[in-house]
Amino acid sequence: MILVDRLASLSDAAFSSAALPLADFRRLNLPAEVIGSRWSCWQLLGPAQHWRSWSSPSCLGLVLDFASLRQWLADQVQQLGGHVLLGWTALGSTHLPDGSMRTSFRNAHGELIEIASEWVVDATGQSRALIGEPVIKADPMVSGVGLEWLLKVTDVQWQRWAGRLSFLLGSEVVPQGYGWVFPMQPGLLKIGVCRLRDSRRSQPSLSSLQSHLLELTGLKQVAVLDRHGGVIRSRVSRSDPHLRGRLIALGDAVSTANLLGGEGIRHAIDSAEVLADVLLELQGSASATAERAVQIQYKKYLRQKLGWRWKLSGRLGRRTWLGLKDECSDRRLEKWLTVLEKSSAEDLSALLFNYRFERFGLKALPYLLGLRR
Ligand SMILES: Cc1cc2nc3c(=O)[nH]c(=O)nc-3n(C[C@H](O)[C@H](O)[C@H](O)COP(=O)(O)OP(=O)(O)OC[C@H]3O[C@@H](n4cnc5c(N)ncnc54)[C@H](O)[C@@H]3O)c2cc1C
Repeated sequence: MILVDRLASLSDAAFSSAALPLADFRRLNLPAEVIGSRWSCWQLLGPAQHWRSWSSPSCLGLVLDFASLRQWLADQVQQLGGHVLLGWTALGSTHLPDGSMRTSFRNAHGELIEIASEWVVDATGQSRALIGEPVIKADPMVSGVGLEWLLKVTDVQWQRWAGRLSFLLGSEVVPQGYGWVFPMQPGLLKIGVCRLRDSRRSQPSLSSLQSHLLELTGLKQVAVLDRHGGVIRSRVSRSDPHLRGRLIALGDAVSTANLLGGEGIRHAIDSAEVLADVLLELQGSASATAERAVQIQYKKYLRQKLGWRWKLSGRLGRRTWLGLKDECSDRRLEKWLTVLEKSSAEDLSALLFNYRFERFGLKALPYLLGLRR
């Protein structure tokens, strides 16, 4: 097994805010070394510029150190006897007549190598570098862009944001998206903005939104240790190609990233586990049988794993964020936040991470889905 990444160091471009619910952290058996900080409170600034917060007496989740998470995953590959090859960009994969695969890579010096293998897994995230990206009119790609800075703050500033996930919402603050402040580790905050792309409108630049966010949060004069950003792209119905012969894609490359909360680490890991189980079961099967079995089972099991709620929340995410662009949508959002005031911090986690919309009453569903206003 060889894990190849175009990054020269796994701590480069650590773009993800990496917030995760505690239950998933435990379920996925992630180690303590990847934890940045813990949170037990949600804090939302609504369009009316009013902060609301929901606290739990116990820990609800974690903010991971994304670079450490990547490193730990690569270490796992090595511990299992695999190799890690950094600084090589995958260019393409071809099927050879004998049924095996050949994948070509280029490094920063322009050198080329080819690696032969039985299977190739495209885990290149939203770029879908090997599996490709056909146009699917019935299920178009919904795309978001995000920008995040790592700030070094004083103890007083740290206390203001520690232990909580803070989101800033409203068309004035981030039209068609949201801003956030997450605690990374004592003295370090992650602050960022993300919005969906809307080709029908002219949208403000992410840097102007980030600047506004820094002002709103009183963090404008603070030292910036790192600037990173990324793209999140998913199809709501996940009709992406999952495999082509012995080339199989997982994670963001098959749209497991969820648009509602802009998160996908746990779903990407889940897709890897589903795929690993399918491949392990097929070890030793004849080539054509194995390909057919993966084709049928992988997509089916992954759909079952993500569940119907995943699709519903993607639809809700697209509607919520794309629609958040004027006073009318701000008023609707304020109304929702007022409804949420009666909920607990656990209810909010259940809504945003477990997509438990029915907790807010079945009558609310048509509104959530945009079928009624
Ligand atoms: C700004 C932002 C904030 C986010 N915040 C959260 C959050 O708080 N919580 C959460 O759960 N999720 C969050 N996400 C989403 C989450 O990070 C992704 O869903 C998750 O990382 C997907 O994992 P993946 O392994 O599929 O892809 P990635 O993590 O994108 O990994 C793909 C890897 O492939 C490599 N690669 C790409 N192309 C090539 C190539 N041609 N050759 C070789 N290597 C290549 C890349 O260098 C990268 O290391 C956020 C995303 C963004 C953009």
